[in-house]
Amino acid sequence: MHELVINLHMHTRYSDGSGTHAEIAQAALRAGLDAVIVTDHNVLVSDLSDYYRDGDRRVLLLIGEEIHDTRRDPQKNHLLVFGANRDLVSLAENPQRLIDSVRNSGGLAFIAHPVDPAAPAFGEPDISWVSWEVQDFTGIELWNAMSEFKSLMKTRFRALLYGLNPGLVARGPFQATLQKWDDLLPKGRPVVAVGGSDAHAFPASLGPIHRTIFTYEFHFRAVNTHILVPEPLDGDAAGDRRQILDALRLGHAYIGYDLPASTRGFRFTAQGKDGLVWMGDTLLLESGVTLQISLPRRTECRLLKDGQVIKTWRKREICTYITTEPGVYRVEVFLSYLGRRRGWIYSNPIYVRQ
Ligand SMILES: [Zn+2]
Ligand SMILES: [Zn+2]
Repeated sequence: MHELVINLHMHTRYSDGSGTHAEIAQAALRAGLDAVIVTDHNVLVSDLSDYYRDGDRRVLLLIGEEIHDTRRDPQKNHLLVFGANRDLVSLAENPQRLIDSVRNSGGLAFIAHPVDPAAPAFGEPDISWVSWEVQDFTGIELWNAMSEFKSLMKTRFRALLYGLNPGLVARGPFQATLQKWDDLLPKGRPVVAVGGSDAHAFPASLGPIHRTIFTYEFHFRAVNTHILVPEPLDGDAAGDRRQILDALRLGHAYIGYDLPASTRGFRFTAQGKDGLVWMGDTLLLESGVTLQISLPRRTECRLLKDGQVIKTWRKREICTYITTEPGVYRVEVFLSYLGRRRGWIYSNPIYVRQ
């Protein structure tokens, strides 16, 4: 398997972002990403999807869409749609019909910022997902970098502090979002977790000072989604796009907060009698199953089964655990950075079934 680092969920001038697709591609090249997925609100700008190059470096820019019902008040229920190949915004009013249409079009549907608290000091409403009766979505955006910033904007002073020092923001997905995911996971169908930046590159002013806060390049060095694909990308945009979407569909992915240190190289696998599987996969429990975790650096790592921590390792690079019990197993890794213990890696689960 080959690892790719991608950043998904971001906005351009076609909706409420400040940059262009070309500027996003340049920022992604500087940050060393393999691909980005642009998701403007309720508009599909598909003709700008392509490889963008700088010298011998290249980045694949893919186009998705963030769809929500603009007539709803407040405007909750945002859905990230990738690979549907057509604009489905006319179905926004009914989240289940929208999700069904995305899947029937061969696309992927991720619930955006499932928990997104209000920021009353700025008049920003809560735009969490509320229609949890929906089924058959691909997954959820477990970690949204901008929701986290929004949760810290309690006063103008604090918003300024974090806006000027964005490295202080990230701690990890909200507990409520993790809880929601852990509640959904045992219910049969896999639910894939991704991390999104929700980058807008906001222009901000304080008196004579004008700055862009949370630039695209900052986001692209922070909360990324790492995916595992069977073949290295070969520069053919259509084939490479297919590999990326397939990996997201299968959950061959983990969320990495790459700002403190690159999370590249993390692996979570399970070995059973019938062979080796990757995060996102299902393995039948025959006798014992060996779960193996490889970490890019020695730090705190914990294994969860059905939402409960069952083992914690410290200062290990390789962690192994043998189980004879069915369940949904996933991994969380923490790192100390800027004076605080922060979430560093969140794996997709391995489903051990009877
Ligand atoms: Zn949104
Ligand atoms: Zn967004």
